[in-house]
Parts: sequence; structure tokens; C-alpha cells
Amino acid sequence: MTIVEIKNLTFTYKGNDEPSLLDINVEIREGEFVLITGPSGCGKSTFCRLLNGLIPHFYSGELKGEVRVLGMDVRKTPTYELARYVGMVFQDPENQLFLSSVEKEIAFGLENLGLPPSEIRERVEQVIAYMGLENLRDKAPFELSGGQQQKVAIASVLAMQPKILVLDEPTANLDPYSSLELLDIVTRLNREEKITVILVEHRLEALLDKVSRLILMDKGRIVLDEHPREAVLNPKIKIVGVPKVIEVYERLKKIGYNFNNPPLSPEDLSNMVHEMVDLHGRHSRRS
Ligand code: ADP
Repeated sequence: MTIVEIKNLTFTYKGNDEPSLLDINVEIREGEFVLITGPSGCGKSTFCRLLNGLIPHFYSGELKGEVRVLGMDVRKTPTYELARYVGMVFQDPENQLFLSSVEKEIAFGLENLGLPPSEIRERVEQVIAYMGLENLRDKAPFELSGGQQQKVAIASVLAMQPKILVLDEPTANLDPYSSLELLDIVTRLNREEKITVILVEHRLEALLDKVSRLILMDKGRIVLDEHPREAVLNPKIKIVGVPKVIEVYERLKKIGYNFNNPPLSPEDLSNMVHEMVDLHGRHSRRS
């Protein structure tokens, strides 16, 4: 099922001469895990803002074309309605968290939906258990580390049971360990909970083997939209830098080693090299 449908979309912020998104055509199916990448200023955040109606409801400008999320035209659908289906997590969790405890933070959106208190309690408990937040439930979000805050931000949107999770550079302010932990949680949500994930990230290496699709943007346009296995071999990937594992793969190919597929993670590469060494060993034993 198509969950996001964008047709011939061009968007120019009010006051700007140049469009920030230009002739975007994209369809995202339910269950996909889409990685969006591209240089700073290429339009990634603007793209995310379309998906929950922040554009055009909060950011005004000229919107040409069509954006449908779960069949709803974002122009005609209020943001509170879209928020039930599209969960948004931003770079800076501090701006998203403002209540006095983690528990209250997670319950907030549900209270706004007017759900019965018993259901709110049940959903809050479920999410706290899923995200491993038991020890933090009574803490104020401002007392938490960046990684913990980001987990709470995800927990708050998860409680709404969204169909789509949109994360705009969620690891930008996190240390390497918390970043990987967060990306693991997001991967789990896609694989286990079947939530469609749209993730803006620069850390390609940590995600290539997890995502089902890589969208590369440049100057407001989508310039590449492929499975990571094809995308990493496309020369356009140089716009964001060729992943290290692919550099090694290319060098090995140049000196005559051929593999079926490019490696999408250091583990992939290590397995390939092991196989190569084994094979080489067998050949030399035979000769
Ligand atoms: P990215 O997320 O890839 O860094 P953005 O979507 O933030 O890119 O920005 C794309 C372009 O839109 C940039 O030229 C930026 O200056 C412009 N832009 C972003 N937000 C606004 C805004 N609120 N008002 C006017 N221009 C904006």
C-alpha cells in the first residue's frame, strides 16, 4: 500500500526567490525504511515538514503539486489529524520536551487525543517497557542526557501509535554510542512493529544494511532513489561521500577480486574478505 505520495511538488518558502524543493516525485510504500541524505541546505528538513503538514500549515510559501499521506491531502488536513499517523522526531529533543516528568511527556499527546485514562495508562506503560525507560519515568526531561531525551521524544510519538515515523537527523547532537543505540531502536521499530520509517541521516555506514531505500537530495531535487546496494555504486553518491566499505570494495575490485554484491556494513566487508582469504587458501593448497 502506498503510504506517502508526492507528485510534481515544488515548494518555495515565503520571502525566498528560489524553491527549496523542486519537482519532487516520490511514492513510499507501507513498511519501507527510507534513508534520506544530502548536503546541508538541500531540502531534507523541508521534505520532512511536508509529511506532517508543518508545510503548508506552519511554514507559509508557494506549494505546487500534490502531497498525500495515507490518502490525505496535507493541504486540506489539519496538523492535529496528521499527527495521529505521522510521528516527528527532530534534531534537538529539548525543543520537543517541556513537561515535568517522562511519564507525563509520553501521556501528553494521548491526553490531547481525549483517550480514556485507562487506555492512556496502558499505552504509556507499553511504551516505557518497549523503550527501556523504567528508571527514568519520574525524571524531568531536562535532567536527562541527549540520548535519553531523544528516546523520550521517540517514546512520546510512539504512544500515538503512528503509521509513519519521520526522524530529521535525530543523532546530530548525540555521542557515537547513543547514536548507534538510537538507530538500533529505529530499525527495531521498522522491523518488529512494521512502522514506515523516513530517516534523515548523514551516518550512511551505520544504516546501509538496514534501510530498504536510499534517497539522495541535492539543491532541492531528488537525484538518486535506489536500494542501497545500487545507490552506493552510483557515482552520484560522491555528493555525500563514498562510504569507507565501498572504497575498500572498489580497491579490491581494481586488483582483481570480484564479489557478487557490494558490502553494506563493516561486517559484510569482513565476511567477504574472510571468504576471499579462505578461497585463496584453498587455491594455493591445490596448486
Ligand atoms: P536541509 O535540511 O537539507 O539542511 P532545509 O530543508 O533546512 O535543508 O533547507 C533547504 C533550503 O530552504 C535552504 O536554502 C534554506 O535556507 C531554506 N529554508 C529552510 N527553512 C526555511 C524557512 N523557514 N524559511 C525560509 N527558508 C528556509
